[in-house]
Amino acid sequence: MAVKYSKAKLKKFRISILDKMDEVSNDMDDIKEGLMDRGNPKAGLSQDSVYSVHMADAGTDSFEQEKNFMLMSRESDYYKNLALALERIDKEEFGVCVLCGELIVEERMIEVPNATKCVDCKTKDKLNLK
Ligand SMILES: [Zn+2]
Repeated sequence: MAVKYSKAKLKKFRISILDKMDEVSNDMDDIKEGLMDRGNPKAGLSQDSVYSVHMADAGTDSFEQEKNFMLMSRESDYYKNLALALERIDKEEFGVCVLCGELIVEERMIEVPNATKCVDCKTKDKLNLK
């Protein structure tokens, strides 16, 4: 019989993944708000100060925008990976190394729920890539 995590353990993993997905989606909301704020000059400033503030911050603004977009795509990648991890829980493939078929240690699966390789195989993989 192939090794896999028990249903009870999988349930625990699912809860922890759903928690993480919640966090990530909150983070994405925050980033989105940040992106939208940037597009609106602050109300209540006189035309002159809006102009000078805008000129002084133009460089920083586009840098911030870029940073936010990068954050956004990183978060959404992470979110997709978590969703994939959930699918693997459904298929009861979660926590099983795709290369050697051994169980991946629990701490690692909590830390990196989208891991598909055990530490040993991952290390070997890295060495092969060199
Ligand atoms: Zn392995």
